[in-house]
Amino acid sequence: MIDPQTVVANLAEVRDEIARAAHDGERDPAGVALIAVSKTIPAEGIQPALAAGQRLFGENYVQEAKSKWPALREAYPDAELHLIGPLQSNKAREAVELFDVIHTLDRTSLAAALAKEIQRSGRHPTLLVQVNTGEEPQKGGVAPGAVDAFLAECRETHGLTVSGLMCIPPAEDPPSAHFGLLAAIARRHALSVLSMGMSADYPAAIQMGATHVRVGSAIFGARQPKG
Ligand SMILES: *Cc1c(COP(=O)(O)O)cnc(C)c1O
Repeated sequence: MIDPQTVVANLAEVRDEIARAAHDGERDPAGVALIAVSKTIPAEGIQPALAAGQRLFGENYVQEAKSKWPALREAYPDAELHLIGPLQSNKAREAVELFDVIHTLDRTSLAAALAKEIQRSGRHPTLLVQVNTGEEPQKGGVAPGAVDAFLAECRETHGLTVSGLMCIPPAEDPPSAHFGLLAAIARRHALSVLSMGMSADYPAAIQMGATHVRVGSAIFGARQPKG
């Protein structure tokens, strides 16, 4: 595991880079939130980031988050947890209980499951719709051409409030066209949250209007393969 000082130094570097990109884009750096992606990182690897003041964290797996975060949150009640990985409808209950923001709403069955759990629990996580800007068959997300209808369905059929959009551009494409497309769809619907940009491309995402960047390996180091 990466040592605590390196995590803290990496965090500072990423924050500097965010400020630089915001400045280059003539944006207020305060308008760009850093989500530290801590998937596969054990609690003791996350601690130094919390101690250094980082409060927004992203996790990909409900079960993993459930095993790590309740204890961390007792120590840091103001930590904010973001689900950035695919969500199965049968995990909607746990996801609504655990996460403050869900970035991966991308189909009708999930909208229905989330609506049910939100009603039941009275908890209202912020919801983002994932858009499959590259129309990759293996990736989650709503096709760009289907977003308008899906947003209307979330609102009208399921009574859900969607606050923004999220995308993961294809690894082999220059990302800026995807970020630009996501920003244009968000603008058309007056959605304020734009979750885009990872370790390799978050400065470009900030240039294109990202309000949330999801940065993992640039903070915590390269991930071990899962298993
Ligand atoms: C893992 C992950 C990230 C972080 O990726 P890095 O390249 O490590 O910064 C961001 N977003 C999503 C959806 C991810 O799954």
